[in-house]
Amino acid sequence: MLSVISRFILLICLAFLAAYIASSNLGHYYGVAAAISVLAVPLIYSYINLARLRRFTLSDSVESMPLPSGYWEEIFFRLQRLVRNLKQQILSIEKQHNRFIEAFQASPNGIVMLDSEDHIEWCNAIAERFFGLSFKRDALQRINFLIRRPEFIQYLYKRAFEDPLLMERMGPSSNLSLMLQIFPFGDQRHLLLVQDVTDLQKADAMRRDFVANVSHEMRTPITVLMGFLETMQSLDLEKSQQSQYFEMMMSQAQRMKSLVEDLLTLANLEANTLPASLEKINIATLMALLKNDAEALSQGRHAFSFEVLNQSYLLGEEREILSAFGNLVSNAIRYTPDIASIHVTWSVNEHGEGEFSVADTGPGIASEHLSRLTERFYRVDRSRSRDTGGTGLGLAIVKHIANRHQAQLIINSTPGQGSTFTLRFPKERIST
Ligand code: ADP
Repeated sequence: MLSVISRFILLICLAFLAAYIASSNLGHYYGVAAAISVLAVPLIYSYINLARLRRFTLSDSVESMPLPSGYWEEIFFRLQRLVRNLKQQILSIEKQHNRFIEAFQASPNGIVMLDSEDHIEWCNAIAERFFGLSFKRDALQRINFLIRRPEFIQYLYKRAFEDPLLMERMGPSSNLSLMLQIFPFGDQRHLLLVQDVTDLQKADAMRRDFVANVSHEMRTPITVLMGFLETMQSLDLEKSQQSQYFEMMMSQAQRMKSLVEDLLTLANLEANTLPASLEKINIATLMALLKNDAEALSQGRHAFSFEVLNQSYLLGEEREILSAFGNLVSNAIRYTPDIASIHVTWSVNEHGEGEFSVADTGPGIASEHLSRLTERFYRVDRSRSRDTGGTGLGLAIVKHIANRHQAQLIINSTPGQGSTFTLRFPKERIST
């Protein structure tokens, strides 16, 4: 390939040669015309290729355009390669960018990117949901125009972002507790991270309530016990009175013991995250045990029926099952007035599920209480529950045991008519 200068020198030489030959044979005018003609050919060729180059640069499909031959081929080829490389680079940057966006979108936390003047540069879908934003509509708006809670505006203006900010917000269905924190990055930009801590806050509130409830439940019998002790210390009581006081002290101590035992049972159940084992429990034997305990507790005050409609085995943890069934029977006895009847049945339904049911003709429970009965320390009537020796933990324990056996606790009750508590076990836990 000749260089540009060699081509140029060759062209001049050719023009001179053509001019010399034409002028010596045909005259001077023909010599000038011959030289111009020789120079015009590459000029026209170059002009055509310049026009092509223009088309080339305007085209979207530069890579697939045919290349001209000759010297221009190299220019076109280099351009084509440059465009191809650039396109590949843009594509890989776009892919990387999309990956970042997808990762930010997949985050369970809300993310908002702010510029140096707190305008929204980008935000993910979770942040849109938390704050009712729409990136399309709100891009480049100042964040404080969109999140107008005073505590947030103060947090933003204070510029002290070391600590997070806890903010309550009305959600579409319920209130949300959001933990916000701003992190500076890049060129005076800020990243606003938002975490939904509603469940954590609820768990924290439940823990506080639980501690308060336990303390309250313990304080009452301790206070009563201390009162008796002080009386016995300061007064010279007669033997019969003393034994009466001892009996009352014993009942308070018993109440504390039951509470501590139930708390320990609950703690053990909560600590055990594995499903219950598959011990083969004979339902008929279990029913006989329940009947004995029930009759001892009722002391002839209630009419009982214990029926095993389908003789079968339950696969579960015997100790836990006995405690759950016993809790339901003892509740029926404790909340059902004397003479009323209590029916305890075991059956296997048409789906092969095992059902343990305790039906009483007691006072029943109003519907607004039903969904809360399995909460720890929830009672329909506080004083009645205490009078009957209840700790308020019985149904919470039953619910935990049911969960560990993949069973359902179903409560049906009509005030004034009675209640039926049913534990329904999956067919996988029933054996014949
Ligand atoms: P407690 O130790 O107070 O009995 P539970 O968790 O066993 O606690 O029961 C929660 C509440 O449910 C009780 O306080 C009582 O108000 C109500 N309850 C449970 N079983 C019955 C029932 N068979 N009849 C009426 N009310 C019941």
